[in-house]
Amino acid sequence: MSNFPYHETILKRFLRYAVVNTMSDPHVSDKRPTTDGQLELLEMLAKEVKELGISDVTFDHKGYVVARIPSNVDKEVTPIGFMAHVDTADDVWGNDVKPRVVTDYDGGVIILNDQYVLDPSHNSDLTHQVGSTIVVTDGTTLLGADDKSGVAIIMSLAEYLMSHDEVKHGIVELIFTSDEETGGGMDAFDLSLIKAKVCYTIDGNGGGEIEGECFNAASVKVEFTGVPYHLGAARGRLVNSVSMAATFMNAIPRSESPEATDGRYGYYSVDDIKGTIVHTSLLYYVRDFDINRLNERIETLKSVGQTVEKLFPGGKVTLSSHFSYANMADKIKEQPEVMESIFASAKIIHLPLEEKIIRGGTDGSRLTSLGIPTPNIFTGGHNIHSRYEWLSISQAVDAARLVEEIVHYWVK
Ligand SMILES: [Zn+2]
Repeated sequence: MSNFPYHETILKRFLRYAVVNTMSDPHVSDKRPTTDGQLELLEMLAKEVKELGISDVTFDHKGYVVARIPSNVDKEVTPIGFMAHVDTADDVWGNDVKPRVVTDYDGGVIILNDQYVLDPSHNSDLTHQVGSTIVVTDGTTLLGADDKSGVAIIMSLAEYLMSHDEVKHGIVELIFTSDEETGGGMDAFDLSLIKAKVCYTIDGNGGGEIEGECFNAASVKVEFTGVPYHLGAARGRLVNSVSMAATFMNAIPRSESPEATDGRYGYYSVDDIKGTIVHTSLLYYVRDFDINRLNERIETLKSVGQTVEKLFPGGKVTLSSHFSYANMADKIKEQPEVMESIFASAKIIHLPLEEKIIRGGTDGSRLTSLGIPTPNIFTGGHNIHSRYEWLSISQAVDAARLVEEIVHYWVK
């Protein structure tokens, strides 16, 4: 383990990246990346990696930066990559972030502003942070530790490697993506940009959490076509597509919604509704860890659609499904060395790990489907996508030491 000053570099970098307005926009479909601030941060990163002495840098204006640190050993070493996304979510406002540093945290309530506080009695993870440096919001926005902490960790690793040529390593790639939060992060990614055979996203939550499994995900668009008629003479003639959609929604069990499930339970989540008497559409997100169960869920939606069609003679129901990403567990298990590289490295630095499952996906799930196994490593971020988001710098430092050790693992 090096004594590189990760604490200072990560904090300094995180504060610099956090104030760039990179909130992505899921409603934009004709532009990549969806917002210009993401390009601004990518450009900053491209410049910073060059300043570190990395010359092999690609800035793809579709929203990616790939920087390659060449191998400095004679033997063949598996090329590896570390990935993080520059965008922030839009669940609460993700721009105009004003990060505040709390040094030597005393374990008490942290006042964000006159309306919101961060209370350790509701945030048990905070109680383990007494004495640490943590970064919080001003209560009006999210913080963006998801995933600028990941960006800061990867950049700090690059700074370490570039300033210590005596440290041996194979090809190490730094991969920065955009629009991860909109789910379209890897849509325009050119796989030929990278040489890595194994990647790691640094895009997780609290200290020590490692994830090699995520949901299988699909979206299903359900369209209802009614039969319009003058309302005064509608009896027996009008078919109202809004009523058809409401009947459909009521038939989907609320006990299988995101708000009613956790752990390994999958769900149906209606995300969008638009409609008039003539035409109504619903967008469902369907998730399950088991691919067969995911397909069964899609079949269930189809059969509910057929039933609704029968209940509303003259009306039409059509469904179209789109597969979004796959559970990465199977592909990762095919190459046991990938998870082994994380656990063996953690052992060397005496870092306890906890293996978890992601009730969602990452850019890594997409990359895994494309053939590059990409598990996920923690960032030290907590309460992500909310105004209560906070970052433990000491946990971010643990992540940096872990990825440093993973670099050593592959060269051994
Ligand atoms: Zn993220």
